[in-house]
Amino acid sequence: MQIIPHYINGNTQHEPNPRLAAVFNPATGENIAQVALASDNEVDDAVQAAKNASHDWAAVTPLNRARILFQFKYILEQRMDELIACVTREHGKVKEDARGEIIRGLEVVEFACGIPELLKGSHTDQVGRDVDAWSISQPLGVVAGITPFNFPVMVPMWMWPVAIACGNTFVLKPSEKDPSASQLIASWLKEAGLPDGVFNVVNGDKTAVDRILAHPDIRAVSFVGSTPIAEYIYQQGCAHGKRVQALGGAKNHMVVMPDANIDSAVNALIGAAYGSAGERCMAISVAVAVGDIADTLVEKLAEKASNLKIGNGVEAGLDMGPLISAEHLAKVKSMVDTGVSEGAKLVLDGRGYKNNENPEGYFLGPCLFDQVSQDMTIYQQEIFGPVLVVVRVPDFATAVELINAHEYGNGTSIFTNNGGIAREFTQCIQVGMVGINVPIPVPMAFHSFGGWKRSLFGANHMHGPEGVHFYTQRKAITARWIQSELGAEFAMPTH
Ligand code: NAD
Repeated sequence: MQIIPHYINGNTQHEPNPRLAAVFNPATGENIAQVALASDNEVDDAVQAAKNASHDWAAVTPLNRARILFQFKYILEQRMDELIACVTREHGKVKEDARGEIIRGLEVVEFACGIPELLKGSHTDQVGRDVDAWSISQPLGVVAGITPFNFPVMVPMWMWPVAIACGNTFVLKPSEKDPSASQLIASWLKEAGLPDGVFNVVNGDKTAVDRILAHPDIRAVSFVGSTPIAEYIYQQGCAHGKRVQALGGAKNHMVVMPDANIDSAVNALIGAAYGSAGERCMAISVAVAVGDIADTLVEKLAEKASNLKIGNGVEAGLDMGPLISAEHLAKVKSMVDTGVSEGAKLVLDGRGYKNNENPEGYFLGPCLFDQVSQDMTIYQQEIFGPVLVVVRVPDFATAVELINAHEYGNGTSIFTNNGGIAREFTQCIQVGMVGINVPIPVPMAFHSFGGWKRSLFGANHMHGPEGVHFYTQRKAITARWIQSELGAEFAMPTH
């Protein structure tokens, strides 16, 4: 069986007898490959390759760095279908959704092509007599990214295009559940002209992650994944003196006000709750029904959700594919069991769903809970599956209190026709990304992406201006070209 290797210094490689993890096609349940799990030595090799390439890459002009990204964009666009097939085969998401993820990632590459503009420093003439001062942004050196299974292309692309456009070299540790997309990206970057060692991939598990966190030559770590691991990465990375941005899990609420356009709210909820089988950090997993809209909302949601088209994502016209693994399917099902035992009303039960064409696939039908309360496990915890819970509240103020009390603060949205309420919502909600009459408020590449509270550890959001900030360090320079000797000065200069 194929062993998916690492990609170090422009070459694929793995040790003669590596530790291995199985890679599955979630739609069929078939074990399609094995992935090599890096040892400490292999992580060290990748970091050394990145370190060796670092000086020369930082010396390449920003424009020439950007030109390689332009070329990569061209190659990816020509071979988009190959990458889509790779994502669908290992992740399971339907092919149109895989295309969407790739294009959203490519937007960060497009943003990074314009980074020379953002790398401009600032200059002040005459800060003292005949003295000028200016600031420049320089790369950090070797930086690393550790990414989750649910966006095998887009989430790494939140990181590496910005990092390398800023002049850093990169070590990526993608999810071991769907590692093949990163191999394609690495080989296409090489074809686009990226020098060996600038972009490296180590596949692996906790062993590789822990070596990255402790490695003295890695200056910064970007992480996206679940909250317990994000917190661990933040603590360990900081303890080892690195810059860290660690994005965690979510429980995103959508508030539906009584004056909302109910059909657009329902369409938005269906797509945002069940798209990608709910395995999105920006999935809406809680509908907050305000006032008397709840009965109609639940009725319409149940009707639409029961008609979703589910299957192997390679087929056309589907709404939803399988979950990532047998273990995750079992976990999501057990969360539904918990919801029932805690007294929530299961309006739509997907636990019995079977896909006749793919009986071994990890499929779960859409689930919808009504009458969910704040103390229930299915309200408090991220489920990361096609499970939408409805919480009924009497008014706007209670909806806001509910959201602000939740441990997560990734994304949220409100559906209303009242501009004053919408504005108030954006002002007082304790969440990093907010939508008004849009379901999933994912910021564009030239803004920055990040949540609040336990959805993000660290000071910087990803990509956009904050990404540039994260991957560069400022230097302030003060200069005087002496025309005549002034003599020694013993007091602090004041002009
Ligand atoms: P995960 O936390 O299990 O894994 C993420 C990465 O951490 C992987 O590369 C994995 O190999 C590594 N890892 C796992 N366990 C580890 C351990 N004990 N020690 C060190 N490293 C470890 O997450 P996942 O299941 O791959 O992805 C789903 C999660 O990611 C969800 O919680 C989702 O909300 C979150 N996510 C968040 C965002 C965001 O922007 N906030 C985006 C996408 C996904």
